[in-house]
Amino acid sequence: MAAEIRFSIDKIVNNIMVTAAKAGRDAKDIKLMAVTKTVTDARVREALDAGIMILGENYVQEAARKKTLLEPTGRPVEWHMIGHLQTRKAALAVRLFDMIHSLDRVELASEINKRAKAMNRVMRVLIEVNTGDETTKGGVSPLRALEFAKIVAQMENLSLQGLMTIPPWFDDPEKARPYFECLRELQETIKAAELPNVQMQELSMGMTDDYLVAIEEGATIVRIGRGIFGERL
Ligand SMILES: *Cc1c(COP(=O)(O)O)cnc(C)c1O
Repeated sequence: MAAEIRFSIDKIVNNIMVTAAKAGRDAKDIKLMAVTKTVTDARVREALDAGIMILGENYVQEAARKKTLLEPTGRPVEWHMIGHLQTRKAALAVRLFDMIHSLDRVELASEINKRAKAMNRVMRVLIEVNTGDETTKGGVSPLRALEFAKIVAQMENLSLQGLMTIPPWFDDPEKARPYFECLRELQETIKAAELPNVQMQELSMGMTDDYLVAIEEGATIVRIGRGIFGERL
């Protein structure tokens, strides 16, 4: 239902404003991404109608299909890749996405850099950090993030804009806080290194259950799926 999605989005936007104000932050510095995995095209369109400007995609193929379908709506929407990216899909990803949040290995970085160069463009990327050091998750270890940032900084067709994390799952969102803090501290460390060609202004962290904690810890992009579209089937 269109009204339902719009209502959820309005509620989240309001929560973001209230939490930002309490944390002494400007709500304009916090972008809301709608995460659309398993969501029907009609519902994605409803989210765009309700003012969503960033779509988060987990799968390259799914994004390709959706983009052809939704682009004719003419809305100024950005497409962000947030899922694990296979190196052999780098070329397609460069063609489809405005930003890649899941950069987590040198091999993938060089491939994206190479493909971006061939297409004469600069790809905005975030380094995914595995703040919980979980073996089941992608992302570089926090101990290796600075070293990896230095490598990415040297790639001319990549523009490093910040960091992304998916913390371990807890039923109490408060328990995710140390992982968000960890990401913010890494951002400070990498900023302090003053790497050429590196911005580091973005912190992509916080999902449906923990985005308000993430905002308190400095999130600039929150990635919300269920909170907008309801439980996934
Ligand atoms: C699915 C997903 C989200 C959104 O999760 P919700 O709990 O539905 O808000 C955010 N980030 C990534 C990387 C995801 O895969």
